[in-house]
Amino acid sequence: MATNIDYYATLEVARDANGDEIKRAYRKLAMKYHPDRNPGDAEAEDTFKKINEAYNVLKDDQKRAAYDRFGHAAFEGGGAGAGGFDFGGDGFGDIFEQMFNAMGGRRGGRRSGADIQVQVSITFTEAFVGVKKEITIPTRVICKSCDGSGSADKDQAPEICPSCHGAGKVRAQQGFFSMLVPCPTCHGTGRLIRNPCKKCHGAGTMEKNRTIEVAIPAGVEDGMRIRVSGEGEAGGKGVPAGDLYVNVSVEAHGIFQRDGANIYCRVPVRMGQAALGTEIEVPVVDGSRAKVKIPAGTQTGEHFRLRGKGFSVLRSSARGDMYIQVVVETPRHLSKRQRELLEEFEADAVGHAKGSPESTGFFSKVKDFFEGKP
Ligand SMILES: [Zn+2]
Ligand SMILES: [Zn+2]
Repeated sequence: MATNIDYYATLEVARDANGDEIKRAYRKLAMKYHPDRNPGDAEAEDTFKKINEAYNVLKDDQKRAAYDRFGHAAFEGGGAGAGGFDFGGDGFGDIFEQMFNAMGGRRGGRRSGADIQVQVSITFTEAFVGVKKEITIPTRVICKSCDGSGSADKDQAPEICPSCHGAGKVRAQQGFFSMLVPCPTCHGTGRLIRNPCKKCHGAGTMEKNRTIEVAIPAGVEDGMRIRVSGEGEAGGKGVPAGDLYVNVSVEAHGIFQRDGANIYCRVPVRMGQAALGTEIEVPVVDGSRAKVKIPAGTQTGEHFRLRGKGFSVLRSSARGDMYIQVVVETPRHLSKRQRELLEEFEADAVGHAKGSPESTGFFSKVKDFFEGKP
């Protein structure tokens, strides 16, 4: 599906073009290359498809950001049978797309079965390692009784529809566009069946639940969508099936947060440990443990990086990092002995302001403040 031509070049816009500029450029080009204006011109149709593909990405801030970061790799092939990735959202939603849908086809007029969307929820750790999910889809499959022909008599070939002469489409005027719509007589099939199949009533397809296994790759992010080509609804005889879109939502985790491929984990450290320095053991998403050295004098909010312990980056061998964010904890209850020691510590600390970087900065600014300096 994806071409490797730069989307910005396709739409003839600068990389920093704003949404309006992109929309204007798209409309201008789409009008020029629209198949209805260039009948039989395969090159124009191809250009038109590329324009639409580029626009579908650049009009969506999230997709555009992913494209800017990963290029075409952001939307290319996935796990078993998967055709490509994109991020949630409506996908189509433009007048030209609507016209194609009205013509009974998608992506440049190719006819096929309907696409199906399903929602799948996975855990944080499943997103980390990747997971295979069984998905049950209510869908239309080719009728076995008539082998998809829709006719009860296998010998009798369906007749050509007299209204559209077999084209399956008729012209209709909408605004200043003359557009093709599915023929109402034959429902876009181009054929009339005199003796319809009893099982499918002439449709050639039937409703049935199907279960398929979808491989969700490691590194998948909340809100991403996996396309599994050909696993949508059956298209009837000689017509390809639609695609299956799996919308993935990733559950939040109790101790790990995620930003892109990086993982963040807040780890509490006692104030004594932070002052003296220590080594702590932290959990890693893969279920292992890692040791992190906390140097003497560590402040709340300081990060320590565990390189390569983050999420896999999709379609790349790269990995994110894990960041341990230290939170220095003040004890709520002190034993008698702790209180004595801390009182002694505190009495001594007054004379050692230099050892407290935050305070030194703060109190010198407080002094400036009271002396009327800005
Ligand atoms: Zn049938
Ligand atoms: Zn017809």
